Amino acid sequence: MRCPYCGGLDTQVKDSRPTEDSSSIRRRRVCPDCGGRFTTFERVQLRELTVVKKSGRRVAFDRDKLMRSVEVALRKRAVEPERVERMVNGVVRQLESQTEGDIPTERIGELVMEGLKAIDDVAYVRFASVYRNFREARDFNAIVGELEAEPEAAPAPAPARRRKEPSAT
Ligand SMILES: [Zn+2]
Repeated sequence: MRCPYCGGLDTQVKDSRPTEDSSSIRRRRVCPDCGGRFTTFERVQLRELTVVKKSGRRVAFDRDKLMRSVEVALRKRAVEPERVERMVNGVVRQLESQTEGDIPTERIGELVMEGLKAIDDVAYVRFASVYRNFREARDFNAIVGELEAEPEAAPAPAPARRRKEPSAT
């Protein structure tokens, strides 16, 4: 496994154990060249997935690419890597269990948004803003408003009283 920091090829496994839900094996690795530490996961792939882009182009589903976009959204957010791993696993399982072979990119985006919404609001907004490619601030505010919607309902504004117009007689 290539070191993500220096590109060194000779990384060593320091620790290897199943994740909490036993869906994958988590390995802690260290790079002898730069001392960098990172974690990898080994997991089951039920079937090959094909993604259909908006352009109509079909490409093989790339879990790592999906994970990277999730990590970008989660940058500097304090979320356990295992939690992120579980979320992405959940997305992939949902994709794998759908009946048709090809998956529209929109479907993946929607699932990731739902997943991120459950683990980190900030990451959700970041991902959604990139994914939905907001052209107007209005869209962004709608998302933020969705998040800020509290169970304690704001007092409803008093219904505007319609003044009776003096009848012209
Ligand atoms: Zn390294």
